[in-house]
Amino acid sequence: MVKVLVINCGSSSLKYQLFNMEDESVMAKGLVERIGLEGSMLKHQPAGKDKVEISAEIPNHKVAIKVMLEALVHKEYGVIEDIKEISAVGHRVVHGGEKFSGSVIIDDKVMDVLKECINLAPLHNPPNIYGIEAVKEILPDVPMVGVFDTAFHQTIPEYAYIYGVPYELYQKYGVRRYGFHGTSHRYVSLRAAQFLGKPIENIKLVTLHLGNGSSISAVKYGKSVENSMGFTPLEGIPMGTRCGNVDPYIPVFIMEKEGVGLDKINDYLNKKCGVLGISGVSSDFRDIEQAAQEGNKRAKLALEVFTYQAKKYIGAYAAAMNGLDAVVFTGGIGENSSLVRKMVCENMDFLGIKIDENKNNVRGKETDISAEDARVRVLIIPTNEELMIARDTVALIK
Ligand code: ADP
Repeated sequence: MVKVLVINCGSSSLKYQLFNMEDESVMAKGLVERIGLEGSMLKHQPAGKDKVEISAEIPNHKVAIKVMLEALVHKEYGVIEDIKEISAVGHRVVHGGEKFSGSVIIDDKVMDVLKECINLAPLHNPPNIYGIEAVKEILPDVPMVGVFDTAFHQTIPEYAYIYGVPYELYQKYGVRRYGFHGTSHRYVSLRAAQFLGKPIENIKLVTLHLGNGSSISAVKYGKSVENSMGFTPLEGIPMGTRCGNVDPYIPVFIMEKEGVGLDKINDYLNKKCGVLGISGVSSDFRDIEQAAQEGNKRAKLALEVFTYQAKKYIGAYAAAMNGLDAVVFTGGIGENSSLVRKMVCENMDFLGIKIDENKNNVRGKETDISAEDARVRVLIIPTNEELMIARDTVALIK
C-alpha cells in the first residue's frame, strides 16, 4: 500500500497530509504552528478520530517534522505503526524559476537549483528547503519529490512573461513573469474538464484561485498561457494584504512620503495593502462582507475593487485565448463566497457569462452555477493541491 506524506513548509508553519494512494484517502492531516516562536503546537487530525492539539517546544522545522512523525505513529491518535510505512514524501516548493516545468525527484542537483532560486523567493523558498533537509535527515531512505507552484506556468509564452523593462534584467536576474498557485490551477483545470465531460485539449478556461493570496490563470487546451501573479506573488488583483497591480511609481512615492525605508517597503506592500488596506477592517473576506452588509463604506469599496479587478482579468484572458468555455472559482473565497462570485460575474453576459443565483447559493462543492442559457459555464471546483502533489509523487517514484 503506497502511503505518501505531503508537506508544505512556511516560515513558521508546517502543513501535512498523509495519503493512502490506493484510494487517495487522507489518513491524517495537520498543522504545526508557531515554529521558532513561543506557544508552538501541533494540531493533528487523524481520519475518523478526534482532533488532538499538542503543545511542545518546536524551535525549528526539523523538530516540527519529528513532532509530526511522532503523532503519525502514536498509539492513540496515530494512523500508521512505523514511519517506514511512508513510501515517499512530496514537498510543495514555491519557486522553481525557469528550471522546472514539472515535478521532480529531489536529489543534490535539484537542491542546488532550489538554493539558486532563493534569490527569486527569499521569503518562501528557505522554509521549503529547511523542510526538505529535515526530512532527508530523519528519513534518509525515503524518496522525495518537489512540486513547484511555478511549474505549470512555464508554458506562458515569452511575449506574455517579458516585462517592459531592459531585457538585460531578464538575462542577469531572471526578471520575468513566473506565475504562482500552479498546482491549484492545474488541479482545477483537470477537474473542470472532467466535470464538463470534455477533453482538456479542447477547452479554454479562466481559473480564479481566490484566497488570502489570489491569482487568475488562462488555461488554453490544458496549458497555462497566463497568470496574474508575476515575478513575485505581489502582482495581480489586490489580495488579503497584498497590493496587487499598482502604478509602479506608487511604492517610490510611499517610501518618500511615509518614510518607509527600502528594508520595509516589501513588507508594506505584502502585509498592509490589499483589501485590508482599502477597508481598514480586515484581510478576511468574511469580516469584510459582514462589515459591508452593516454599511461600512470602505468594506463595500474593497469588495468592489477586488471583484472589478477579477472581472477585468476574465475579459483580458478571453481576449488572450480568443475564446472562453468555462470560468472556474476556487480557493477559500472562490469556493465559499457567493457574493464575490456574483459580483465578478455580473454584467458579463456579452461574453456569455451568466450565473444562476439559486445555483450560486452553495459552498465548497463541485457545482455548475451558470444559467441554463449561458454560453460559458461557470464552475466551483474546490482545489486540492495536496492531492495533486501526492499524485505527482507517486507518478515519479514509480
Ligand atoms: P490561503 O491562500 O491562505 O490558502 P484560503 O484559500 O484558505 O487561503 O482562503 C482564505 C480566505 O477565504 C479568507 O479571506 C477567508 O475569509 C475566505 N473565506 C473562507 N470562508 C469564507 C466564506 N464563507 N465567505 C467568504 N469568504 C470566505
